[in-house]
Amino acid sequence: MRYQSTRGLAPELDFAGVLLAGLANDGGLYMPASWPRFSAADLRALRGLPYPELAARVLAPFTEGSIGFADLQGMCRRAYAGFTNKSVVPLVQLDTNIYALELFHGPTLAFKDMALQLVGHLFEHVLADKGEKIRIVGATSGDTGSAAIAAVAGRKNIDITILHPEGKTSEVQRRQMTTVQADNVLNIAVKGNFDDCQDLVKAMFADAPFRTEMNLSAVNSINFARIAAQIPYYVYAALNLGAPERDVAVSVPTGNFGNILAAWAAKQMGVPIARFIVGSNRNDILARFLSANDMSVRGVEASLSPSMDIQLSSNFERLLFEFLGRDADLLRQTMADFRSTGKMSVAEPVWRAIAKDFKAFTLSDEQTLAEIARLFREAEYLADPHSIIGIAAARELGPIGMPVIAAATAHPAKFPDAIEKAVGSRPPLPPHLSNLYERDEKFIRAPNDLAAIETCVRNFANRNVNV
Ligand SMILES: *Cc1c(COP(=O)(O)O)cnc(C)c1O
Repeated sequence: MRYQSTRGLAPELDFAGVLLAGLANDGGLYMPASWPRFSAADLRALRGLPYPELAARVLAPFTEGSIGFADLQGMCRRAYAGFTNKSVVPLVQLDTNIYALELFHGPTLAFKDMALQLVGHLFEHVLADKGEKIRIVGATSGDTGSAAIAAVAGRKNIDITILHPEGKTSEVQRRQMTTVQADNVLNIAVKGNFDDCQDLVKAMFADAPFRTEMNLSAVNSINFARIAAQIPYYVYAALNLGAPERDVAVSVPTGNFGNILAAWAAKQMGVPIARFIVGSNRNDILARFLSANDMSVRGVEASLSPSMDIQLSSNFERLLFEFLGRDADLLRQTMADFRSTGKMSVAEPVWRAIAKDFKAFTLSDEQTLAEIARLFREAEYLADPHSIIGIAAARELGPIGMPVIAAATAHPAKFPDAIEKAVGSRPPLPPHLSNLYERDEKFIRAPNDLAAIETCVRNFANRNVNV
């Protein structure tokens, strides 16, 4: 498989190249040259397979030319071996037609593990092949960072630096990052918000000499390998609910638009997903776009679902690229205008086509707590403040004649304060994390300043050279 940048000015790469590059060097995002297609018979043949085997078969067309199938199978098996639920991604029925797809049984209790556990293995494999060393830098509003760190801590030929907005992640989220003692891990608490952190990461990538000197790589959901690794669970869930003979809908609590984009990719590959529901908290730029063709940037506001406190959904660019007929010149112009004006609207027919498939749903903090409480009362199911948005969206939709897969993206124990407010008690952490609050933390603080951050990354890279 070959990959091309959404902005059309970067070289085409193979899967290994895309994995290591992350962002394309023209500022765009890599996309497969075409979507692999599974026939109804191909899909039926995946039914009943253990999740790691299904994942390997779904991913094979994307890694073809870079990674042998037997290696891919082995990596999928190892990536999901540590998950605490036997089926890896259990589907839990909540109502006649609403199913929670639990994506949080990995080491850091959030759906980011689904992709990153595999990506850690992919990196190690590809780097060993090439005899290279890389430095991963990433920004996190909470869950990405801990999942990325858990995926590469202690691995050879990789350093990882994660920027998080100081004081703006939950304590569990912070501790899951800062209590990892592996010496290839650097945590930086930045004085700023998540978008500042993400901008700093983008600026490091845009600084070509620095990028080359450090051999930078990304693990944010701008890396196509992550999108790819999120496709198999939608295939798995849809097959379990009757696809390819029956349509399904998906409802996804959305931040950077990566998880829902993976569902859309599953549709391009042949899975009959008839509707996509985009769940938001008060940071509702996507909802405003879907309801009125108005993508205008406002400040980020803190909410009970911090992993969705994002005003620029990076992966939306990938969807737009597709709906603009893969016209990279037009996309590049659109993104440049958006950058300079903070506003975007697209041609009416393009917007109508997007709004036909994607429906928006927004939940305030008060409604989030009320819905958590209600679901707990009515179905004895405890959903975290992110997952509940997808579940409430499915409920709000009413009966639509097809099952709705609501992506459950975090374990409720990750957000004990919100859960306590909603239902009156704090959910316990699972056994492997039960002493998290007693572990020592390790991180440094830095201002929201590119030069200062680059110095931190460089010093860390050279830590064994100058002592
Ligand atoms: C990252 C995250 C999201 C948002 O996912 P995107 O792929 O960025 O849209 C939602 N919920 C949780 C718990 C997350 O960690």
